[in-house]
Parts: sequence; structure tokens; C-alpha cells
Amino acid sequence: MKRYDYLIVGTGLFGAVFAHEMMQRGKSCLMIEKRDHLAGNIYTEEVEGIQVHRYGAHIFHTSDKSVWDYINRFATFNHYVNSPVAIYHDELYNLPFNMNTFSKMWGIKTPAEAKKIIADQIADLGITEPQNLEEQALSLVGRDVYEKLIKGYTEKQWGRPCSELPAFIIKRLPLRFTYDNNYFNDRFQGIPEGGYTQIIEKMIHGADVLLNTDYFTFIKGHEGIAKKILFTGAIDAFFDYCYGPLQYRSVRFETEVLDTDNYQGNAVVNYTAREVPYTRIIEHKHFEFGKQPKTVISREYSSEWKVGVEPYYPVNNEQNTALYEKYRALGATRPDVIFGGRLGQYKYYDMDKVIAAALKAVNDEEAAFL
Ligand code: FAD
Ligand code: UDP
Repeated sequence: MKRYDYLIVGTGLFGAVFAHEMMQRGKSCLMIEKRDHLAGNIYTEEVEGIQVHRYGAHIFHTSDKSVWDYINRFATFNHYVNSPVAIYHDELYNLPFNMNTFSKMWGIKTPAEAKKIIADQIADLGITEPQNLEEQALSLVGRDVYEKLIKGYTEKQWGRPCSELPAFIIKRLPLRFTYDNNYFNDRFQGIPEGGYTQIIEKMIHGADVLLNTDYFTFIKGHEGIAKKILFTGAIDAFFDYCYGPLQYRSVRFETEVLDTDNYQGNAVVNYTAREVPYTRIIEHKHFEFGKQPKTVISREYSSEWKVGVEPYYPVNNEQNTALYEKYRALGATRPDVIFGGRLGQYKYYDMDKVIAAALKAVNDEEAAFL
């Protein structure tokens, strides 16, 4: 049996960056992946000439120039700017929350008018330090925007009342008093031409890879296969849920090819009313300004995770944060294992943060081999 420097569990972005950097440093890597394809949740595949984001829309955005330069070594990014729209019953609004949203909602024109309406709507609530997502959202945008564009969407997405969710989730979204529909404030943004999977393929060139291989089955009989393990699966699963499972949200995607060239006129349309069972519809071709005769759309349904289902989003509330701390402490007793990525570190990481965290893990390792 060949002995490797690293056994890397998971071929998502974290595992791939780590493998790439370690191979550059002359280390050998075996990557194992339980799915039948590479790239984790950023996997894209071509359907009808369109790059389909199989695990949900992935828009790369960052303010970190070094991360932007890093990812651009593996692909050319287009000039896509994410500007979703939200549909609430028969009303359509621009996102993120900006003057276009407020003007449509209240028939006003100026930032001063919008600020006055928001201030009036929250004057009697007495929120000084928002304690949860509901208080945070109300204090930022007032009651109308909260009721129409946040409450229903968030409760579908997270399956919990907004009053029981952490405030930071809503702080991900910009709030602006300018007419600017860019969903992100970051300096750099785009979609890789030709999709994300090719990025991972390039990164892991030179590694040995086994698909359809679950770590927990594989490791029995291969205990000594590597000097060290990078584990990018769920940390509670690694420890056989010994303190009980962490909570995650899962997502189901219903994807259809339609015989029309343009279904909804935008890549991302959010459905913010509670009664609509899905949270958003993605029309993939618009990420690449596609002109194909057909189109591919995906409806996203959010659900609570249970053991055996694919986890997507960590639910970073107080209870889970405390439980994760126990798993993290247990992880620290295993110096032969590095835990990384959205599931390994139980963090609501975007792709740019995953790259930065993987590069940091490499630096920490490098310090250890000196
Ligand atoms: P993953 O991509 O989840 O990779 C982990 C891999 O490990 C998976 O392939 C999994 O199959 C494998 N694995 C797990 N357990 C085992 C095991 N026991 N044995 C073998 N293999 C195993 N970020 C952005 O920057 N922009 C966006 O627009 C954006 N949109 C998103 C939309 C959705 C719906 C979701 C869920 C996430 C989104 N993200 C976005 C976040 C982005 O997906 C993550 O930052 C990134 O994919 C995390 O990479 P990772 O390597 O940590 O995890
Ligand atoms: N959100 C909302 N209404 C929307 C879009 C987002 O209330 O139309 C809230 C919701 O709580 C969501 C959070 O903002 O979980 C972050 O949104 P983002 O688009 O960043 O979610 P992700 O892409 O991570 O699913």
C-alpha cells in the first residue's frame, strides 16, 4: 500500500486548494470523495450548452485581492454582477435593499424620504442592540421590507422563526440608500467561464483521487495510508455524533430543461412569500449571458437536515455554537487530523473565505514541517 503525506477527505474547494498547495510543496496527496464527481458544492455541469450549478447558484465575490488573484490563476472570470429580484405575491422588488426597492415599496424618490419611513416604522420598537435576526432586520429596513422581503424567505430558508436566528445572517446583505442593485459590496465579482468544476480539476492535477469513496468505510483497513488527514466533511459525523448531531439545513434542487430561450429574465429570482414552497428559482444561462435556444432552471427547496441527508448550511445559533465548541475541542486531541471547510469548521463560509482558510491551513502546516 502506497503511503501518502496527506489523505484529503472531500474534493470541494477547501480540499482542492489544500491539495494544490501541498503538491506544490512536494507532498503526495490521496483525495477521497463520497460523491460520484469532484468539486463539492461548487460542481457545475454542462446541460444544453449551459453551465448548471448543481448545488445552487455560486457567484464568486471577494474584497481580498490576493484571493481574487489566486482564483484567477485557474479560470477567466466574466463580468457578471449579481442583482437578484424578489417576488412577493404580485409585487416585484430589486435586491439587495436599496433605493430601487424603497422607491417601489413606498413610491418615494430620495434617500431622506426612505430613511424617514424606516425611522417612523421602528420608532416604537425600542431596539438598541439587536439580539436576533428579526430585531436586526427591523432596525435596518423597517416593518414593510421585513414583512414582505425578509420574514417569509428567512423562515423558509432556515426553518426557524427570525427571532431565533443570529443577527449576522442578515448582515450578509448590503443595505444602501443609493440606486445600486449589486448584491455584493465586494471589489471583485464574477462567474468562471466554463464553470467551476474545471477549476477544481486544475487544482488537484497530480493527486490520486477516488470517487464514490466514503471516508468512514475507506479508513477501515487503510488506517496508515497517510501521515496526516484533512477532513472537510462534517465534524460531528467524524466523531460519530458522540455529543449529539449539530444542526444543518439541507436543500433540494428541482432542475428542469425548458423549451424557451428566456424563462425569468434574470439569473436569480427569490420568492419571499411564505406560501410559495421554494425559496428561489435560478436560471443558469444568465450567469454567462447565454444565448442558447433552451434554458435550464432550478427551484430551491430548503429542509431540516437529518443523519443520512446532505448537509449544506450550518445553523450557527448559540446552541450549535456551544456544541461545535465541544467537537472542536475533541478535534484538537487529534493532531493527525485537520478539520477544514464549511462542514469541518461548521462555518457559513463563502468561497473566498474557504480559499483564505485553506491557504492559512497550508501555512500552519508548513510552519510545522520546518
Ligand atoms: P464542500 O463543497 O461541501 O466539499 C466537501 C466535500 O466533502 C463534498 O464534496 C462532500 O461530498 C465530501 N465529503 C463529506 N463527507 C465525506 C466523507 N465522509 N467521505 C468522503 N467525502 C466526504 N459561496 C460563495 O462564495 N458564493 C455563492 O454564491 C455561494 N452560494 C451558495 C449556495 C448554496 C446553496 C450553498 C449551499 C453554498 C453556497 N456558497 C456560496 C458556499 C460555498 O458552497 C462554500 O463556501 C464552498 O463550497 C465550501 O467548500 P468546502 O470544500 O468547504 O465544502
Ligand atoms: N434574505 C432574505 N430575503 C431575500 C434574500 C435573503 O430575507 O430575498 C436573508 C435570508 O435570511 C438569507 C440571508 O438573507 O438566509 C442571506 O442571504 P444570501 O442570499 O446571502 O443567502 P445564501 O446565498 O447564503 O443562501
